[in-house]
Amino acid sequence: WAKGEGRGRWAVYDPERSARDHARSALTAGLPAALDRGEFVVHYQPIVSLVDGGMLAVEALVRWAHPEQGLIGPDHFIGLAEETGLIVRLGEWVLRRACRDAEAWRRQFPDAELVVSVNLAARQADDPAIVDTVAAVLGRTGLPPELLQLELTESAVMGTAGEPLRSLHRLAALGVRLAIDDFGTGYSNLAYLRRLPIHSLKLAGPFVEGIRSDGSAAGHRDERIVDALVRLAHALELSVTAEAVETGDQVERLRALRCDTGQGRWFGPPVPAEEITARLRDEETR
Ligand code: C2E
Ligand code: MG
Ligand code: MG
Ligand code: MG
Repeated sequence: WAKGEGRGRWAVYDPERSARDHARSALTAGLPAALDRGEFVVHYQPIVSLVDGGMLAVEALVRWAHPEQGLIGPDHFIGLAEETGLIVRLGEWVLRRACRDAEAWRRQFPDAELVVSVNLAARQADDPAIVDTVAAVLGRTGLPPELLQLELTESAVMGTAGEPLRSLHRLAALGVRLAIDDFGTGYSNLAYLRRLPIHSLKLAGPFVEGIRSDGSAAGHRDERIVDALVRLAHALELSVTAEAVETGDQVERLRALRCDTGQGRWFGPPVPAEEITARLRDEETR
């Protein structure tokens, strides 16, 4: 233990922290090779109509099938990939994988009109080349643009210059749908929201989680917030997806609040593409 000069300046050896930093840098170092070796996989989570229960879309969520550690979730490596810039290559890979899978579903189940929703990191969205990348992937896979949705967070939408991204209008002009992810957790700029070519808002998990039938003040407050956000979205002609829906009780309340679609463990966790295919087959025969 060594105390440095001045208050609160500690130069402390913390073995746990050091192990964590070590694991972190080992993970970072392994990312590019993992991409080259094809160790990443995309799972898909249903986005379901709260009106009739039909699966309208699936969100593409990347995982790292690590040879020793097993399936590693994106929270453990997306941040690192953003810091190192690898997210551009990884993100493009996810986009291609997702569009290829979606095109295969479209051919097999044309009536389902299943949309695939792909997350765009701030760093990807901020790069003007993203428009050509998306256009090229659509061209190569054959997926109609209206079956692709891109999810951006509020901060990604605003770009590094503090201005909404110009690329958004060019992406919208391609015919793809744009969604604001985790809406309500960032700095929502309502003036821009009104002018941007956005198609839907995804309400962040914490608001949805807060909806409770226990009559508590906190539950009531979260329900009022969701109510207000749904009304705001509909006034702007945007559709609303509730994220992290975990209970039937939440479904009932979200439906009463006129929320359009839901996503979460209640409707199904993220699963490999084959399980989505099976679900589409199931819905077809129903
Ligand atoms: P997100 O886009 O908000 O994705 C939703 C997250 O909520 C997913 O976590 C999903 O597994 C999780 N989730 C699903 N159902 C429930 C539920 O019922 N309750 C709760 N509490 N959570 C639920 P996941 O897969 O770990 O992804 C975490 C984040 O990583 C994503 O958040 C997204 O921001 C990022 N991410 C994932 N894939 C990609 C990608 O391909 N590119 C980029 N840029 N980011 C990605
Ligand atoms: Mg996770
Ligand atoms: Mg998302
Ligand atoms: Mg989200």
